[in-house]
Amino acid sequence: MKTLRKIDPQIYNLIKLEEKRQKEVLEMIPSENYASSAVLEALGTVLNNKYSEGYPKKRYYQGNAVADSVELLAQDRAKKLFGVPYVNVQALSGSVMNLAVYFATLEPLKGKIMGLSLAFGGHLTHGQKMSASGKFFKSVLYTLGEDGKLDYEKIEQQAIAEKPDIIVCGFTAYPRIVDFKQFAQIADKAGAILLADISHIAGLIVGGAHPSPVPYAHIVTTTTHKTLRGPRGALIMVTKKGLEKDPELSKKIDTAIIPGLQGGPHDNQTAAIAVALLEASSLKFKQYAKQIVKNAKALSDELIKFKFKLVSNGTDNHLILIDLSNKGVNGAIAAFALEVAGIVVNKNGIPFDTNPPFYPGGIRLGTPAITTRGMKEKDMIRVAAWINRAIEQVKNERLPENKEERSVFMKDFKKRALKNQELLKICNEVKSFTSKFPLP
Ligand SMILES: *Cc1c(COP(=O)(O)O)cnc(C)c1O
Repeated sequence: MKTLRKIDPQIYNLIKLEEKRQKEVLEMIPSENYASSAVLEALGTVLNNKYSEGYPKKRYYQGNAVADSVELLAQDRAKKLFGVPYVNVQALSGSVMNLAVYFATLEPLKGKIMGLSLAFGGHLTHGQKMSASGKFFKSVLYTLGEDGKLDYEKIEQQAIAEKPDIIVCGFTAYPRIVDFKQFAQIADKAGAILLADISHIAGLIVGGAHPSPVPYAHIVTTTTHKTLRGPRGALIMVTKKGLEKDPELSKKIDTAIIPGLQGGPHDNQTAAIAVALLEASSLKFKQYAKQIVKNAKALSDELIKFKFKLVSNGTDNHLILIDLSNKGVNGAIAAFALEVAGIVVNKNGIPFDTNPPFYPGGIRLGTPAITTRGMKEKDMIRVAAWINRAIEQVKNERLPENKEERSVFMKDFKKRALKNQELLKICNEVKSFTSKFPLP
């Protein structure tokens, strides 16, 4: 970044600071990862300069021979890796990808989406009222069972009663295997399209560490920057089953992206997606995917030893949801204390949470990024011990019920946490530990 350093030292320094942060902490937000140098190199190229509105061989602008080859390569690799007959690689992010599916398949204001409630681990774009998916379409939300797991019987009853046009499965905060076959049976009975949004688990699926929805769903969507470890971006795939249901489905999705929701695709992003897909088809990536799950299971076993209460009592995938109620700590307090200690997680609602959304009862953490750095099961013993020590420091921090008192309290708490000697000590230990695990 020699030129950037000279032209804009402020931005250069900020990027350097972020690089330092990413190196020094335990990055445990389950939707984050470290993309490879090859992916980052592809992003920072002259492909950024090109306009390629349209699709390969059908562009609105001249000069797209290379862009066509890049996009066709990305499509080809995605089709092979996931085993699907059609893919669109142009959606700029996960939220647009799901909107494109709805605009392709539903009539605005009339079509009905059925997705998991945000409060139970669903995504904003799965029909929540505050999202475009819930404003432009009708929606109905399902929840989880008392055990924090999917209750397929209850979902089926609701689907038959509500008759949604599309059912969304695949989540943002669900630590267990999703049974796509059961969801397909439910969708068939309700006469609905089944959309599997595998944004969180795509890397696990192509690595053989989670079953694939491809034989069961009509449409499969995924972001490319989570466990798949690529650039920010998305894939919209139609399965053989989807094309059998509606042979026009692929065309409808292409049209929903452009002219429906976007103009030109980001060719540099498309190239980086192609690189990530190549990397994800390697044997090494399969080992990586399996290691993510092994690490998450090892970490959950260790956390349980420290009497942490895990939603659904454990994990089958890359993420863990901790219900902090038995520790008497709010998720917002815990997440801040952990950050001071060099462990980056996010506060998160837990099933049947009675706390306000900005101050939820739990935290969500995962192993994709630390596994990329080469950490193994034995390292999870230390990670769990640090998490426990940090939470012990804030056990007596009681969040006031009253709204104004709460924000005053948080300000004061943050000041105290930033000076807490034990948290700072953990942070130093974490820093020296992570220095042994280089970034890609
Ligand atoms: C992350 C995520 C998205 C949205 O991705 P953005 O790129 O942040 O818009 C959609 N669906 C699920 C299930 C996700 O986890």
